[in-house]
Amino acid sequence: MRETYDEMMAHCRETVALSQISGILSWDQETMMPKGAAHQRSEWMGALESTLHARETDPRIGDWLAALCGADLGQEAAANIRHIDHAHARAIRVPADLAVEIARVTSVSQGVWARARAEGDFAAFAPTLQRVLELHRQKAVALSDGSDPYDALLDAFEPGATAAGLTTLFAGLRAGLTDLLARIRDTGQGAPALDFQFDVDLQKGLADELAGAFGYDWSRGRLDAAVHPFSSGSGDDVRITTRFDPRDPFNCIYSTIHETGHATYEQNIRHAYSGTPLGRGVSMGVHESQSRIYENQLGRSRAFCGWLFQRMQAVFGDFGVHDPETFYRLVNAVKPGCIRTEADEVQYNLHILMRFDLERALIAGDLDVADLEGTWNERFLADFGTPVDGPANGVLQDVHWSVGLFGYFPTYTLGNIHAAGLFEAMNRAVPDLDAQLTRGDTAAARGWLGDNVHRFGGLFEPRDLIERATGQATSEGPLLAYLNAKFGALYGV
Ligand code: ZN
Repeated sequence: MRETYDEMMAHCRETVALSQISGILSWDQETMMPKGAAHQRSEWMGALESTLHARETDPRIGDWLAALCGADLGQEAAANIRHIDHAHARAIRVPADLAVEIARVTSVSQGVWARARAEGDFAAFAPTLQRVLELHRQKAVALSDGSDPYDALLDAFEPGATAAGLTTLFAGLRAGLTDLLARIRDTGQGAPALDFQFDVDLQKGLADELAGAFGYDWSRGRLDAAVHPFSSGSGDDVRITTRFDPRDPFNCIYSTIHETGHATYEQNIRHAYSGTPLGRGVSMGVHESQSRIYENQLGRSRAFCGWLFQRMQAVFGDFGVHDPETFYRLVNAVKPGCIRTEADEVQYNLHILMRFDLERALIAGDLDVADLEGTWNERFLADFGTPVDGPANGVLQDVHWSVGLFGYFPTYTLGNIHAAGLFEAMNRAVPDLDAQLTRGDTAAARGWLGDNVHRFGGLFEPRDLIERATGQATSEGPLLAYLNAKFGALYGV
């Protein structure tokens, strides 16, 4: 048994190494690669992808798994076997010609989407989206055992989650959020304005300081600029990116804190798990909970904003905001807007719940691509109380559907729900958390997350990991309580 397991893990470690190399190449493509290298790079990526696909569908994996069935090799081996079985079962269920066609279509569909978005023309993108959708419906059917095909897509990002479960979880959340938003809108309060040029080199220095303040291990990481910030890698090489806008320093500040949340999760996983399926974050939802708790519950708290205000005055001088209370209101302003990635904590999840409902209807065949733009605009008006400002800021704003990422959106809100549950438990364990954050000290908060979430990597199922840490079943309650308390106080509602 042990020999079979070791043989399977040797194969698996090599696959993990190759996939990490693929990750570094993607990072390089977004940060360093010369423009002229794009074609050559796509050939490298194609070669790596087909090698990875061959390794993941290797028939020996099925034989090893069959031989290991019922084996008792301990908790960690059982978890590795579970991950390998899950990935292998998914890989072999998708027919090779369908996988090739999806790769072919999605390699060009993003470009079609980008052009349609630039021109604000949904009709120019609709036929391509129709094709991407059809292929992913076929993939979902191939992957599902006669259950809801959407679940099979969701399963790639959030193992164990189901559309039915999320629908129940999200229904209560949507009601609470639209109610809170309406109460805030009714106050008619505007947001403080910011009118200053924030030097980009100084922003970079502050970003380095913030990543450090949130525990980023610089000996095993680096920070660079990218158009769309992301974090990549695991184990001893976890890189983050941010972006710089001279008019809006919060873009850089909160992107950096967010990506540091993702990165420290990866950096703090037990070193012994490195190079195995246990050596990375367990799901997209859990990953997002770690970035969001850093960014929002800690980074946008009144206590931390007080410290950040002082640091910004020290770095940039007088930038036109003169007291910590105005600064806190500026950071947490609830403003009308159509763009998901720019949304505040109150409105962000409404953007996601809308996408979740629309993509479920698309996959189920209850919504035609031809009607998507109209349905999007109606739903936006109903939830946000303002009309959509053109298709580029509406149905065309996100890249996800153009590359077939159906089932990904709900993990963002799941992450926010988990972050709020974890924050409640963290406050019980660290009663003087606010006093520490006032000094810019996140060590106890990070330590609690490290002990209760990070170190376990992929050892537990995502939902089990969170419920062990929070001590309660996952619900929308903690997130709504947190938002109502915070924004109720800010807006007097
Ligand atoms: Zn994230």
